[in-house]
Amino acid sequence: QAKALGRNTYTCFTNEMNTAIKRRLAIEEQMHTALENNEFELFYQPKCDLKTNKIMGAEALLRWNNRVLGNVTPDEFIPLAEQTGLIIPIGKFVIERALSFLSQWQATAKQNYSMAINLSPSQFRDSELLNFIKRTLDKTKISATNVELEITEGVLMSAQTNIQHSLNAIAALGIKLSMDDFGTGYSSLSYLRQYPFEVLKIDRSFINGITDNQEDCSLVKATIAMSHSLGLTVVAEGVETLAQQHLLAELNCDLIQGYFFSKPLPAMQLLCFEG
Ligand code: C2E
Ligand code: MG
Ligand code: MG
Ligand code: MG
Repeated sequence: QAKALGRNTYTCFTNEMNTAIKRRLAIEEQMHTALENNEFELFYQPKCDLKTNKIMGAEALLRWNNRVLGNVTPDEFIPLAEQTGLIIPIGKFVIERALSFLSQWQATAKQNYSMAINLSPSQFRDSELLNFIKRTLDKTKISATNVELEITEGVLMSAQTNIQHSLNAIAALGIKLSMDDFGTGYSSLSYLRQYPFEVLKIDRSFINGITDNQEDCSLVKATIAMSHSLGLTVVAEGVETLAQQHLLAELNCDLIQGYFFSKPLPAMQLLCFEG
């Protein structure tokens, strides 16, 4: 009986592994032609200023719909794009598309909106990155001060000698550096001191519990106070309820982003959005 069970478990396990490997291979295969087949689309999640209750910008979030695989989430395909190097052309597509949308959005709404773009570690290993961003800013006539680049500490831990140089050069252009998913991972405090961040985004896992959990609330309160004393703007990620929004306003948080205010939207819908 035990033996049979053991064997079954083993079979199950290898089947699961097979499925995972097959899925991975299929994603890699499909991703190679996804750009040329126009399968990627950017959605935009607006950020709301808690003082004015107005939209001040959005974050670009990549969506992939493939004929064979259907919708694949960024949490699944971005790591594979990183490993295969495809993140370089995909990342360029994101920068170009997000900034040309921003120029259309600013013109339509007659507002000085900003755009936040996520960058992965290997994009920083591409010596072309900075020039590509500069050229795209010129082409779209977007001011560097309206652009935010969101990085996680994965970028900072990727053991690159020139990361300090890259981040300084980006900041020198006037682009804002934003620390994404703050509070997850390790020792982010030293990073805040070492690199030229202007924005800190508190991870949604902390925001989730703030109205019911005293510890989460204390951590968020302390993070906001610390950020402000360092001159950083604070964004709360994953705000899903009015109660969370009220509490964050009380705690002096600057901006909120989350399903309560708005889900990520296709370009057309954001152009029609009445905040
Ligand atoms: P992120 O940069 O931390 O983005 C926030 C994620 O939280 C997004 O997931 C967004 O849809 C989700 N979110 C926003 N508000 C709420 C909320 O109220 N509740 C919940 N439960 N979730 C919320 P998404 O779009 O699936 O993206 C996941 C991650 O994939 C992003 O995390 C980012 O790290 C990465 N990613 C997305 N687009 C790009 C891209 O263009 N380039 C790179 N390098 N990474 C990207
Ligand atoms: Mg982000
Ligand atoms: Mg985040
Ligand atoms: Mg994230």
